[in-house]
Amino acid sequence: MSMPETERDALDQNEYFETLGYSGDDFLVRLKSSGSTVRFIGRPNNWMLSLIAPMSWWSSRWSLRGRGTTAQRAFVRACSRRGPYAEEAIASRIADEKRAAQPAPVLTQSGLPAAVIVAETGGYFHVQCPHCGDVHRHGAGLLGRRVPHCWGLYRDVSDYELVRRSASSVDHIELAAA
Ligand SMILES: [Zn+2]
Repeated sequence: MSMPETERDALDQNEYFETLGYSGDDFLVRLKSSGSTVRFIGRPNNWMLSLIAPMSWWSSRWSLRGRGTTAQRAFVRACSRRGPYAEEAIASRIADEKRAAQPAPVLTQSGLPAAVIVAETGGYFHVQCPHCGDVHRHGAGLLGRRVPHCWGLYRDVSDYELVRRSASSVDHIELAAA
């Protein structure tokens, strides 16, 4: 049995929340008051529904009695209509923005982007990644060519070269051509 048109509309268009979709067994909504995203782990109960809209709003449209209330089922259907929540797509967009915000890399003599060491602890180098801007940690205590840890995130990034920010190593670093 399909839901009456007005109830669909109420879930798809209301002043309290926007359904974002589902992810596995979870359901996601964005709260219009704060803009924050709420994830319901598993099927929502009435209490969870009351967190995103007043109980009076729910009860004026659906029953809240018994297990698996019509309000809960309507909510689950509304999230399901939205489809899978594109969490990975959103994470990938944020990663791309972060990468785009990095300054042009400094190239070493070998032509690789320089990953400058910002700290050394117990045989590990902590380097500032020229691709993503995060600090990556490399073991073995040897300078030279390395695969950046964010390789899995971007796929197309090149190796970089671990360098010290000392006078001698800065000597053979050249600024990337503008
Ligand atoms: Zn990185």
